[in-house]
Amino acid sequence: MNIMKYTSLLLSVLVMAASAYAQEETAEDKQEGHTNQNKFRQLYDEFATPNVYRTASGAPGHQYYQNTADYEMDITLDDENTRLYGEETITYTNNSPDALDYLWVMLDQNIRSKNSPAKEKNSSEFAPVTPAESFVNSHMAPEFEGGFNIKSVHQDGKPLPHTINFTMMRVDLEEPLMPGQSFEFSIEWDYLINDHTVNRGRSGYEYFEEDDNRAYVIAQFFPRMAVYNDKEGWQNYQFWGNGEWSLPFGNYEVSITVPEDHVLDATGELQNRKKVFSKTMLDRFEKAKTSYKEPVVIVTEEEAIANEKKNATKTKTWEFKAEMVRDFGFATSRKFIWDMMAVKVGDKDVMAVSLYPKEGNPLWEDWSTRAVASTLETYSSFTFKYPYHKAISVHAKSQGMEYPMICWNYGRPDEDGFISDRVKFGMMSVIIHEIGHNFFPMIVNSDERQWGWMDEGLNTFMQYLSEQEFGKKYPEVLVGNNETFEKYPSRRGEPSKIVNYMKGDQDFISPIMTNPEQVYQLGNNAYAKPATALNILRETVMGEDLFDYAFKTFSQRWMFKHPTPEDFFRTMEDASAVDLDWYWRGWFYTTDYVDIGVKEVKNYFITSNPTTEGKALLARYGIDDPSKDPRTKDAVYLLTADSEDFESSMKEGSPLDNAPKLQEYLMDNFTQQEINKMKQPKHIYEITFNKPGGLVMPILVEFQYADGTSEQVRYPVQVWRKNDNEVKKAIFSEKEIVKITVDPNQETADVDTSNNVWPREETTSEFEAFKNEN
Ligand SMILES: [Zn+2]
Repeated sequence: MNIMKYTSLLLSVLVMAASAYAQEETAEDKQEGHTNQNKFRQLYDEFATPNVYRTASGAPGHQYYQNTADYEMDITLDDENTRLYGEETITYTNNSPDALDYLWVMLDQNIRSKNSPAKEKNSSEFAPVTPAESFVNSHMAPEFEGGFNIKSVHQDGKPLPHTINFTMMRVDLEEPLMPGQSFEFSIEWDYLINDHTVNRGRSGYEYFEEDDNRAYVIAQFFPRMAVYNDKEGWQNYQFWGNGEWSLPFGNYEVSITVPEDHVLDATGELQNRKKVFSKTMLDRFEKAKTSYKEPVVIVTEEEAIANEKKNATKTKTWEFKAEMVRDFGFATSRKFIWDMMAVKVGDKDVMAVSLYPKEGNPLWEDWSTRAVASTLETYSSFTFKYPYHKAISVHAKSQGMEYPMICWNYGRPDEDGFISDRVKFGMMSVIIHEIGHNFFPMIVNSDERQWGWMDEGLNTFMQYLSEQEFGKKYPEVLVGNNETFEKYPSRRGEPSKIVNYMKGDQDFISPIMTNPEQVYQLGNNAYAKPATALNILRETVMGEDLFDYAFKTFSQRWMFKHPTPEDFFRTMEDASAVDLDWYWRGWFYTTDYVDIGVKEVKNYFITSNPTTEGKALLARYGIDDPSKDPRTKDAVYLLTADSEDFESSMKEGSPLDNAPKLQEYLMDNFTQQEINKMKQPKHIYEITFNKPGGLVMPILVEFQYADGTSEQVRYPVQVWRKNDNEVKKAIFSEKEIVKITVDPNQETADVDTSNNVWPREETTSEFEAFKNEN
């Protein structure tokens, strides 16, 4: 009998056995309803069908379009009465293939109007004990008279019919706005500015009693065009407070009139610097433009303190122009200290800028502008070169909020000057985060109203990388007042930091793919979990090279455009050839967690003596005497030490000594040279990995050997595709294995590590630990 025929016969016996097993498994799966639950199935049901606007590759389609909104605005601040007045002219351009009968304009200030339903969106109850301040704020304070007062909506003086529904205003058009056409109209408005220290609110003022001044950080301050696109039609989902914004790009010309003694900065390029700067400020500004190592102070602390004592009655108008921005914000106060430095981004100079009251020092003069500069460098290297000419960090109590080129950040030393590590790293982290938002969502302009994670998650992931870079660039920052850190102490991003959330009460966890108004634990859901998932994807699943290339591809494809989650998911696969549907499905569409363990390890031996178990298996296929049957006469039998046949089959020596028929088979069929190249089985293990957790992940394993060496091995995630509960691995090892550890470097956010080690480590009970200590 020739070898080929022989082998195929034996194989067919064993394949029969295997397929019988497989059939049983399938029947069982069907019974349990597993058939359609395969975690590797592609996301066809969840993803929108690709079309001419968005391709299956995740890139913009050949008919991709976006509408634009240009603004010309005159803004006046009435500091004494904390009111803001504005007149704006919007030019809205319809690049869509659709005729638009009306336009939707967002009136975000209306969330603070007296009858705002947002105030009653949560159930409310009384706590047994409440701090006086929050009791007064919640139950006793007079209702704030916020919200837009819309004085007129008109086109060249001719009133336009409009309807206000909470935070949305529909402007009806006489004629539909046809594809390719623009519509120009004007709105006149004013509103009472809120104290942002009361309820944060992303915008407002802080009042400083000591010197009777306010510092304003102003945003969502003008009626803004909503987005119309191929995904949502008009995105006019109301602003309830959690889901942020969906905004079209446009060009802005904005004049802002404030008291003469205010220092002001805003989105866009300052057009009348010579008019609003003193000679000294201009000289310092010229110096700052070439200062790459350290910030140059434009308004010093001394000067700011002198300004605090003024109370100008005259005004000054600051003029700005911005191109391709999706929003506009500004900060103004007589309290502001101002510093700047230059940072090279590619071959372009960008100004890193900070504005802060003296209350922020010395923390702010030391670190704010440096953090801005470093963030622009890191983000640019991972995405695209920062395209704007400046980025400003403004200090505002309890704020962490982003706008194009400008953001508000918390972090203030105690009144006695002490700076805890919590305050210091909190301040640097929030600056890195909010400056980072210039990339996501200010430029990679996702729909925040619908997908909080697309800006916060991508940005928090990049924040983690930037923080680590910042710690390397400025090692002195790692020396804290409480302790010295080995690396920048990032709050989010490390897999181990997400474990408590992932293993928490499932009743209070939502999938990442949930609208931000509906999620539980928004911080963990939209920031920490997606950031960690991307970090794990980069470090453990894809590897840095494939991930970084794909992430950069996504950023560049969607720079100055409006991506959806699918555009991101698809691009990450398209640019890497790594199927990730299982990863998106598990991490983004479910609340499953990672828990993989070692269930059992069997140590096998081989013999040529037919074992009881082996014979029983062959008998099922009609082979009654395996040693006589040509198909099985030199078969190899595997058995464990507790097998009843062990004593009779085993004798001292190398594993092959107990399998003479295998040796004969080798001699008959191979040359000595070929045999020498073969692996010699010394230790034979069958390891069962189980998976109590719902998420599938590659199995990362460390084998420790009796000779003191160790080795790390990874089994691809695909190992779970036909059995979601447990998988086995048969291993021929040269060395004796003494310890097996799953996820030895804690890369996967495994929520229960007590099952990760074999042999099981004795866990001391809390009671025993207590006894031992005492
Ligand atoms: Zn954010």
